[in-house]
Amino acid sequence: MLWREPWLKPLIDYDLNSENCGFCKGKFNGLSFVTSCEFCGIDIMHDKCANSHILESHMSELKTKIVQHKDKPLHDFQ
Ligand SMILES: [Zn+2]
Ligand SMILES: [Zn+2]
Repeated sequence: MLWREPWLKPLIDYDLNSENCGFCKGKFNGLSFVTSCEFCGIDIMHDKCANSHILESHMSELKTKIVQHKDKPLHDFQ
């Protein structure tokens, strides 16, 4: 789950009562962890739905992100 980092932003202040998940169209409840997709304009989704959405719809973008992440210089070994 290394890729679930900065580009999945938790939106804990969102008004969950009036929104449906952009992926499964299910209701949120107060305990749902929700997130938005950085790659497209889809609505907020359950955290697990966002994972599914990104894997299904954004594999190429995701791979690019991961590559960029790994390209960061590591100063620890210098
Ligand atoms: Zn959902
Ligand atoms: Zn998306």
